[in-house]
Amino acid sequence: MLGLMQDQPLLISALMDHAERHHGTTELVSRRVEGDIHRYTYKDLAARSKQLANALDHAGLKQSDRVASIAWNGYRHMELYFGVSGSGRVMHTINPRMHPTQITWVMNHAEDQVVCFDTTFLPIVQAIHAKCPTVKHWVALCDADKLPSDSGVPGLLSYETWIGAESADYTWPTFDENLAAGLCYTSGTTGDPKGALYSHRSTVLHAYGAALPDTVGLSASDSVLPVVPMFHVNAWGIPYAAALSGCKLVFPGPAMDGKSIYELMEAERVTFAAGVPTIWQMLLSHVQNNNLHFSTLKRTIIGGSALPLSMQVAFEKDYGVTAVHAWSMTETSPLGTAAQLKNSQLGLPDEQKHQILNTQGRAVFGVDMKIVGDDGKDRPWDGKSFGDLWVRGPWVASAYFKREGSPLKTDEHGRKWFPTGDVATIDHDGFMRITDRSKDVIKSGGEWISSIDIENIAVSHPAVAIAACIGIPHPKWDERPIVVVVKKPGKEVTKEEILALYPGKLAKWQIPDDVVFVKEIPLGATGKIQKRKLREELKDYKLPEL
Ligand code: ADP
Repeated sequence: MLGLMQDQPLLISALMDHAERHHGTTELVSRRVEGDIHRYTYKDLAARSKQLANALDHAGLKQSDRVASIAWNGYRHMELYFGVSGSGRVMHTINPRMHPTQITWVMNHAEDQVVCFDTTFLPIVQAIHAKCPTVKHWVALCDADKLPSDSGVPGLLSYETWIGAESADYTWPTFDENLAAGLCYTSGTTGDPKGALYSHRSTVLHAYGAALPDTVGLSASDSVLPVVPMFHVNAWGIPYAAALSGCKLVFPGPAMDGKSIYELMEAERVTFAAGVPTIWQMLLSHVQNNNLHFSTLKRTIIGGSALPLSMQVAFEKDYGVTAVHAWSMTETSPLGTAAQLKNSQLGLPDEQKHQILNTQGRAVFGVDMKIVGDDGKDRPWDGKSFGDLWVRGPWVASAYFKREGSPLKTDEHGRKWFPTGDVATIDHDGFMRITDRSKDVIKSGGEWISSIDIENIAVSHPAVAIAACIGIPHPKWDERPIVVVVKKPGKEVTKEEILALYPGKLAKWQIPDDVVFVKEIPLGATGKIQKRKLREELKDYKLPEL
């Protein structure tokens, strides 16, 4: 017997309709490439998304055709999110930090038909447009008078002229909720980029999951600043969860430095923000160096790479801001886990609470997870046993776009899991802690050493800007860890001072053998440390004892 509830497909357009009807007067504020601050409402967003949908119809785009964006966080990007997917096309967000040859590769692989870009990225478009035969229209996200006259890009359109010619009279189509809605490629640190293809159903369910209080926790009373880019994994789903919850949105545009972010937070009375640790480090330094405080900011969600404990504690103790640590992946839409205390843990001493809150956290409903050994068998949830992290759920990838074969693994119960490539522990309360990417694991004397722990301790020194721990081959122990450090500008620290941070925090054999100071550590397109490249750069390095 079937239930007797209305059978409505979960579509992204329903989020827009909800925001328009129930939060129509709530503001979206954007710092623009043009340098000014732009403000409008969800009602305006809905109207312009519909104009865009009409423009796509008139450009002859069919259902599931791909439209690409190369853009900062801003209202026009938001219109693309809803106008493209809501009308049944696929929103392909491109990370401008990828190498132009990779951008060309993903555009050709996705067979993008329209590409909309912020004028900042005109040089990328100029370099690649001739190599992208599927693209029919290149659209600059600007007014006609800002359109570069001598761009060399044939038929270059101004977005404002393009959608300005269209009516806002449009009815979102209804279709199968499993239809593709968004496409995001992994950064391709190992081989060609791989495309995660989100559906309307997965996106809407993820928006519900993201809005929950133990995850991103959005409310109509919040003013939300997503610093995490809309060009990579949908800014952690915040654009959709924002429409669902009706919160005010504040977009930083291209200005991601500590000062610009702080000023925007204060001016727009931001209560909640989201970003990767490097961005929050810049914000924290700005606030510390200028003796400032946050008047309205209450919470941030930090993920993408490990949140250093020292930063988490500084936010809480010095500024009264809760920094929620989360774990995410392109293939998981991206939210997987977030660290918030359980009721039974509220009475624990502060230090213990911090240890729990510094893990990557508990699974949100919608993502099941487990850790397995090399034999594919479950490892115990004791907080100590390491294993490969596997996940499953309705917003976890089952395959990659236009790629043969399945990435999934099957367990002894016949259940399919996505192997994340991360190595983790899980404790008896279900708190997961990433220790490494599996390809970066350091094995010494048959035991695993967590590079993330070593890095976290190094960056707790006030003179350390960034630290990366890698394994160096050793004749007796297989590998020994060293920590590679970039100092903060104008600050000094010695090898001995850094090594002195470890005793008492790690077992003796886990303490790095050496500290190597460098000017720069290679970062990938999503801001993560490229350890393979770093190991190549240090291939002639010799451990002190050898
Ligand atoms: P990319 O496209 O560069 O792979 P993703 O955002 O998909 O970008 O990267 C996902 C990976 O980032 C995870 O598998 C994990 O290794 C790392 N990661 C994400 N969040 C965290 C976190 N909170 N702590 C440690 N590592 C993290």
